[in-house]
Formats: sequence, structure tokens, C-alpha cells
Amino acid sequence: MSDDSITLNLREIRAASGLSLSRAAEVTGVSKAMLGQIERGESSPTIATLWKIAKGFHLPLTALIDEGSRPSGIGGEVYRTVQFPGSITVKIVFPFDPNLGAETFHVSLKPGQSHESQPHDSGVTEEVFVLEGAMEVLRDGDWLALEPGQGLRFAADQPHGYRSLHSGAAFLNMHHYRHAAGVRAAD
Ligand code: MN
Repeated sequence: MSDDSITLNLREIRAASGLSLSRAAEVTGVSKAMLGQIERGESSPTIATLWKIAKGFHLPLTALIDEGSRPSGIGGEVYRTVQFPGSITVKIVFPFDPNLGAETFHVSLKPGQSHESQPHDSGVTEEVFVLEGAMEVLRDGDWLALEPGQGLRFAADQPHGYRSLHSGAAFLNMHHYRHAAGVRAAD
């Protein structure tokens, strides 16, 4: 199974960077074979692989998964939802805005689901705001309990994670790249 938007986005990103597949594999830590499969639409990357690619190219996650908005018919803009098989579901709420250096996702966890993330690019900060369900966030090695209406901000250039308890959970997840090393924010 493949994802046309991710395929096209990665092709464009790598072309714009001028990096060979070999060099792209070096900077992202994703194998040349896997990068080639994604670019040919032969493989659907995991979210962990997408984050490695984003970090390697110093790009926000939406640069890889966005396919543009479509009219919602009720005034707002609706962006895509990506269901990662066996993992979290990520809906783009606000795609990356270079003037703000930020992007916002709506993330859903199934009951008892745990998702741990490797460090993002240097300087990236995340915020989690719980919408529904009881959940915990892994920050500095500790799982911190959060209830709906509560939020937590943490350095996301460290290992971090999210897990739901008996019920599922849904939360808003903001990524701030303003001070990240290579991400281009407007001057
Ligand atoms: Mn993260």
C-alpha cells in the first residue's frame, strides 16, 4: 500500500535538496532501499520513518504528509487524516506555517495504545492538550498523567511519548520549530 501524497512530497523534497538517494539515506538514517520504495509508491512509511526523514531534511512533518486543504462546506478548512497501521491516527488541524514556525495535529490513541517517539530536530518544542480520555505523556523519562482540558509543554528533541489508559484518548499536538536548527522560519 502506498500514499501518493507522501510519495510526491518526498520526491519534491529530495529534488529540491539536490541530494542523491545515498546522501538522503545518510542524513535521514532511513535506508536507501526504503527511501526508493517510498518515492516509487511501493511502501507506506511508518510515522517513525516519516519523522526521521523530516529531521534529516530539517522539515516539519506536514511537509511530508500534507496534500492541501479541501473546502469543508461549513466555513473551516479540512486537511487530511493519516491512519498509520497499528499506530496512531494523525489529522492535520493547522499545517506548518513558516511565519509561525508551527503546525498542529489532532492525534487519536486507541484504548491502551502507547506511542513513543525518538527525538525530533534540535530545538523542537511540543505541546499536548487533551481533548478526551485519560492519557499520559512521557517527558524526561517519566509518564505524566493528563486529563481532558489539561496541557503539557516539553522539549521534543528528547525521547518522548503518549499513551492512553483503559479508554482511548484524543489530543491536540502542537509542534514549534521556531528555534529548530535548520527549519526555515520567515525572518
Ligand atoms: Mn513528537
